[in-house]
Amino acid sequence: MKGDPETTLAMVLRGARQALQAERRPLPQPGPGQVRLRVRACAVCRTDLHLQDGDLLMARWPVVPGHEVVGAVDALGPGVTALRLGQRVGVPWLGGACGRCRYCLAGQENLCDAPEFTGCTLDGGFATHAVADARFCVPLDRLALDDASAAPLLCAGLIGWRSLRLAGDDARVLGLYGFGAAAHLIAQVAVAQGRRVHAFTRAGDVAAQQHARALGCVWAGDAEQAPPEPLDAAILFAPVGELVPMALRAVRKGGRVVCGGIHMSDIPSFPYALLWQERQLRSVANLTRADAQEFFAALQTLPPLRVRTTPYPLQAAQQAMDDLRAGRFQGAAVLLPD
Ligand SMILES: [Zn+2]
Ligand SMILES: [Zn+2]
Repeated sequence: MKGDPETTLAMVLRGARQALQAERRPLPQPGPGQVRLRVRACAVCRTDLHLQDGDLLMARWPVVPGHEVVGAVDALGPGVTALRLGQRVGVPWLGGACGRCRYCLAGQENLCDAPEFTGCTLDGGFATHAVADARFCVPLDRLALDDASAAPLLCAGLIGWRSLRLAGDDARVLGLYGFGAAAHLIAQVAVAQGRRVHAFTRAGDVAAQQHARALGCVWAGDAEQAPPEPLDAAILFAPVGELVPMALRAVRKGGRVVCGGIHMSDIPSFPYALLWQERQLRSVANLTRADAQEFFAALQTLPPLRVRTTPYPLQAAQQAMDDLRAGRFQGAAVLLPD
């Protein structure tokens, strides 16, 4: 849908537990340090569902969701010199950080005390245009993937990467719980690095298990099943607290369980014996610009990722979210503005 060049079409959430509404708005102008993008693709993330459900208390309503944005720079705000007109860039979840708090100063801007989040505290990419802080945009000039395939890398890929790093470079036998957008990408990275990857899905999700094997996982089965060998580490992408004790049971002594999601249902109580023997349980929160640099640099050295996407027109964004919630597709849903 082209529309008037002086306006933008945005899919807007006016508050928690409301449906997305299409809105025609004046074209946003980039302020100092910002760029405006013509959005080419924006992937839909499980976090967008948590936003719509009212689980993200930092949200600023109304908001345009979408934090896996790929676009072309079409206007530069005052002072922007690091990006150029026409350049392909990505906009990830971390849309800004204060640069002054103890976390920013320690290289942990993902934990910033005054962060901005794309598509949550800032308008995101469920729109024909988006404005972003140029310092938090990720240049994608060298990425050998089309726009729709690149979009899921901006969150699913990046959070997967950070989770994989926290699982440990020494984790040779890795379990992935929940085989959706993030797992199908990071499984390929882990396999290419020579790790043995085991995929755990919802009981009986044969399609996801086949997908996992096709991408090089050595084993795929139901989450309740024990893996055929003890895991060095497990990453949980499904937002299901019951998986925590299951994953702890599947990892060896000294193993790690990493929770990759922003929101999870309550973790049931479990015997201390599951955590004992120096097993570790930790979460992953957000990401840093360094993660993005490292991830996209690593992709240059690996075989091309096979990114499974399901395209939707921008105005079908609510349908895409509903389909994600119901698990109606493999891989990632991607909104295409026209
Ligand atoms: Zn996300
Ligand atoms: Zn900070």
